[in-house]
Amino acid sequence: IDEFRDHARARQILEHITTLVARLAEQRGGPVRIMEVCGGHTHAIFHYGLEAMLPPELELIHGPGCPVCVLPMGRVDDCVAIAERPEVILATFGDAIRVPGSRKSLIQAKADGADVRIVYSPTDALALARKHPDREVVFFGLGFETTIPSTALTIAQAAREGVDNFSVFCNHITIIPTLKAILDNPDHRLDGFLGPGHVSMIIGTDPYRFIAEHYGCPVVVSGFEPLDILQSLLMVVRQLHDGRAEVENQYQRLVTSDGNLTALEAFHQVYEPRENCEWRGLGSIAESGVQIKAAYGAYDAERKFAVPNQQVADPDSCRCGDVLTGNLKPWQCELFGKRCTPDQPRGALMVSSEGACAAYYQYGGGN
Ligand code: SF4
Repeated sequence: IDEFRDHARARQILEHITTLVARLAEQRGGPVRIMEVCGGHTHAIFHYGLEAMLPPELELIHGPGCPVCVLPMGRVDDCVAIAERPEVILATFGDAIRVPGSRKSLIQAKADGADVRIVYSPTDALALARKHPDREVVFFGLGFETTIPSTALTIAQAAREGVDNFSVFCNHITIIPTLKAILDNPDHRLDGFLGPGHVSMIIGTDPYRFIAEHYGCPVVVSGFEPLDILQSLLMVVRQLHDGRAEVENQYQRLVTSDGNLTALEAFHQVYEPRENCEWRGLGSIAESGVQIKAAYGAYDAERKFAVPNQQVADPDSCRCGDVLTGNLKPWQCELFGKRCTPDQPRGALMVSSEGACAAYYQYGGGN
């Protein structure tokens, strides 16, 4: 991967970005604002110190593409309530275990006696269900289109094998309705997008075409190495400079225009759009999440345990929503680094390494 981290090449690209951004900023009398949608990009940008190298007239907005960061408090409360049932083994990815609910996080529930276990894939959770036929194993299903096919395939496998003590608490979300909701907000000040690399491996680049065609915003689907990100930023800036709005694919080594058809087939076999889906900081967005189809209802933890789907507002002092929409930088939240740290997170953006607040905290970003 050395060729994706070449310093001389990075300097050349930065010079081009700086020249074009200076012209654009002068023409429009303000900065160029590009949203990196994916939390993986946010993490890479801070990890490699890219933000500090960019010209001040180019502002990066850290978008909603970290599924842990946008998980609303009410869903954490629902998950904790499931985990506290004596018959349940709650299986979860490690990054979700510390997301704060209004009462407690999963790790606090575990400390209080709930059987919460970290797994690395939904198939690990299915294996737990086979191993403990006398218990109910619930997998905390989280993530965008990147992880949806793997939970779909696991549910289909459980159905084939008749493992009836396995279910999924589904919190999967989808990126396209969310980007549309951001662009429909009349207050948005975005000039372009770095498209998410991992999600695009599944859905392809075609679903972003409406952003260019209807909203006139360039989109460049990007990889995760430093030169991937710099080249993608240059491609967005070039489009703006040339007065173009197109969907371009910088991540051609892994992303195609129509995506992974096998993964999409598994997705649509098991899941259907959820009418209303709540996002931390962004509110309710129509059809921005999925739910398990009735045909697989026996594997849906919401049906099995009559989950109440609680709606709980974030505490007033928590500014995650403003950070997610680009209206506030993490250090401008009064809790940042004081009452909200990775060890003691108050908001979800401080929990995951892909969250903007955790990235700023870890890599010393800020004013
Ligand atoms: Fe949310 Fe904490 Fe970030 Fe404030 S510092 S926006 S509470 S995660």
